[in-house]
Amino acid sequence: MNSEKQNLGNVINPALRVVIIGGVAAGASAAARARRLSEAAQITVLERGPDVSFANCGLPYYIGGEIADRSRLAVQTPASLARLLNIEVLTRTEAVSIDRARKVVVVRDLAAAGRGDASAEREVPYDKLVLAPGASPLRPPLPGIDDPRILTLRNLQDMDRIKAAAASAARVLVIGAGFIGLEMAEQMRRIGKTVTLAEAAEQVLPPLDPEIAAPVADVLRAEGVDLFLGDAIAAFAPEGDALVASLKSGRKITTDLVVLSIGVRPEGGLAAAAGLELGARGTIKVDGFMRTSDPDIYAGGDAVESVDRFSGAPMNLPLGGPANRQGRVIADHIFRPGAARPYPGHVGTAIVRVFDLAAGMAGWSEKRLVAAGRPYRASIVTDFQHASYFPGAVPLTLKLLWSPDDGRVLGAQAVGADGVDKRIDVIATALIGGLTIDDLAQLELSYAPPFGSARDVVNTVGFAAQNTRDGLLNPVATMPPERAVLDVRPPEMAKLSPVPGAVVIPFPELRGRLGELDRAKPWVAVCALGKTSYFAARVLAQAGYDAVSLAGGLRVRGEVAPSVAPVKAPAPANPLPTSVSAPGPVASPVELDCCGMACPGPLLRVKAASEALAPGQELAVTASDPGFARDVDAFARSNGFELLGVERAKGLVKARLRRPANAFALVPEAGATARRKGATVVVFSGEMDKVMASLVIANGAAAMGGAVTMFFTFWGINALRREHAVPVADKTLLDRMFGWMLPRGLGALPLSQMNFGGAGRRMMKYQMASKNLPNLPGLLGAARLVGVRMVVCTMSMDAMGIRAEELIDGVEFGGVADYLASAETSGTNLFV
Ligand code: FAD
Repeated sequence: MNSEKQNLGNVINPALRVVIIGGVAAGASAAARARRLSEAAQITVLERGPDVSFANCGLPYYIGGEIADRSRLAVQTPASLARLLNIEVLTRTEAVSIDRARKVVVVRDLAAAGRGDASAEREVPYDKLVLAPGASPLRPPLPGIDDPRILTLRNLQDMDRIKAAAASAARVLVIGAGFIGLEMAEQMRRIGKTVTLAEAAEQVLPPLDPEIAAPVADVLRAEGVDLFLGDAIAAFAPEGDALVASLKSGRKITTDLVVLSIGVRPEGGLAAAAGLELGARGTIKVDGFMRTSDPDIYAGGDAVESVDRFSGAPMNLPLGGPANRQGRVIADHIFRPGAARPYPGHVGTAIVRVFDLAAGMAGWSEKRLVAAGRPYRASIVTDFQHASYFPGAVPLTLKLLWSPDDGRVLGAQAVGADGVDKRIDVIATALIGGLTIDDLAQLELSYAPPFGSARDVVNTVGFAAQNTRDGLLNPVATMPPERAVLDVRPPEMAKLSPVPGAVVIPFPELRGRLGELDRAKPWVAVCALGKTSYFAARVLAQAGYDAVSLAGGLRVRGEVAPSVAPVKAPAPANPLPTSVSAPGPVASPVELDCCGMACPGPLLRVKAASEALAPGQELAVTASDPGFARDVDAFARSNGFELLGVERAKGLVKARLRRPANAFALVPEAGATARRKGATVVVFSGEMDKVMASLVIANGAAAMGGAVTMFFTFWGINALRREHAVPVADKTLLDRMFGWMLPRGLGALPLSQMNFGGAGRRMMKYQMASKNLPNLPGLLGAARLVGVRMVVCTMSMDAMGIRAEELIDGVEFGGVADYLASAETSGTNLFV
């Protein structure tokens, strides 16, 4: 070894022996940069697997066939690294221990060891050692976890195994709805599998805030993924040819293949055994130059704990970008310690595509700020990703977290079909640059109609934040119960998805109808996306009212309906009787392009166009508003049109409607003579058997093609409670006491008779399971799949002190008007 310091340019010690453990992201990046800095260095990469420098991030896409050529995933091979960089790459070679005193790594040739060769182990000396061992997928010690059908995805071999197993599997259960889990769920649907996705958290993409993650959950359901949230995996057991996964709730999922993607554990074992200092969860502690507690040993990538830029606190961020950049810092510091710049820490920039949607984040989320007790303000806007009049305009929701002290940007999240990456990257840059909301408002971003808007959504969210800081906008994240609600949407929208108890005054009429609003009351203005309600709140405030606006609007807040409707159900809402035929030649279909129109624009255009349709004539509508899928369904049902189909593709919703050929074939749902196939079930009782009977009837009615609404009131609401306590602020003692005393969720409901302190309930569950009868979670899941609406009575919720966040996902909230409207069009109306 040449330990003498030589100065070649600004490179010192060029002939060092550098040994790198792990040859993928951080390891390969350190190796390549090391060679660029020193032609004289002796660089050895030790890699346990057969491949180096492969594209882990591309693995899901090969499984789903989106990447067709496997060889494209091998960015470099051992041979190409040797040829291009003169690096010695030892694959199938595991580093088993480090002797820091003698500066040697003990390595095992795995092929030789497999043959029982005694000389499989040897020592490799180093001057500088780099640890880049990555992180391994978590595999919790659950009953049945060793079943060979439970696979994880980390490398090309895992990928091959999953692809081969998927070829003969009809059903796939993906566990974990993080980034990799969602990519896997999408790719499995792509190759036609029946996909179930189970996630222990109450939302998909747990690092994101719920309102940004909700559209992703909606799109998963819309694409046919059976999604279970708030339900962790408990055990696996073979059953016949299949594998049955049991979730904590007791729900059982029968599957042929499980992809486990519940997170990763940093590979800190070698470092720990060598006595290096460790951080949380076994991560390797490093300084700014990625040096471990031993100055001759560096570490980078998924295995290390570096710092969060915002708080300066240690943080493990297992992502590809940081791993690659850290590898470069390591090589720089080894060869140019005087000139090397430290790794500055991360802001946590991440993005994922889920079918047509992308969701991304940078910096801190609202829930993280809340958990850390840091002061923040949130602003949320929905706007188009480029000029609304240019083809392909689709909405994008951007949420910004900022500091009330100095306006500094703290984080952002975005969701939409297009343009999410650009906005998240802009905000990541703003975070790194320490920019404020005033900077965002005035950022000069590239603009021409195909790319953006003269006022980009990043500017708009900056404006919204400035308005909040300046007291011009008082956004509220949830509907304040003490405020009267003013709905400023067009009446058509307000009728389709009413807000219980709201006064409806469309915004254009507001100034002339202020007299209808009680000045003594505080008001909250609402609209679909939070923009018109802001305008309305300004009108009210300037007229002397106490008014706030629902930030993000009803769509984002989920107050009336999910933002993306389930659109896979192909059955028309009002099927035309086959005996009815058009009286004469049918006029050709009318095409309507509503792309780039924000809600309620598409619906108003559809209303106008549908009025001009001849009997039997079709209307084909394309809209970029994701909520249009649900709106058009409600429109067709309440106006007597047939909905022939709704499809989503590339962020667009395509719907086909038809005016019935026979004027008497269909009548609007609200009409007294509507075809009464549907059912309305009031679930008043909170007992297992009664809830079960209600679900059986609801599922049956839905299966017969009827629209079914279950209206949960008083004790019945217990069936929809989450099974675990949800922290809710501002509850009175009495409300809390109710919460403790009432059963939480389906699993806790008593039997109406013979309950015997819960023993009867357990016996009944056992009896039903042994006779293969459906259980309550299964019935509830089936009801959701067939589109049964679950409406919870808000008055009863108030009476019992239950808050919306304590209920399972996917329920709607309504009052007696909602019940009466459903009952009016139902053939069956039950009170259980
Ligand atoms: P790795 O890339 O895991 O490499 C570590 C290597 O070290 C492994 O090959 C391992 O075999 C080897 N090794 C470990 N111990 C030893 C030993 N004792 N001896 C010899 N060799 C050893 N990140 C993103 O930013 N965006 C994405 O879209 C994205 N998608 C992903 C999709 C998948 C399916 C996966 C698995 C990861 C994805 N990631 C993504 C994460 C990203 O790939 C990782 O953050 C990155 O690869 C980490 O790099 P690393 O060098 O620390 O570890």
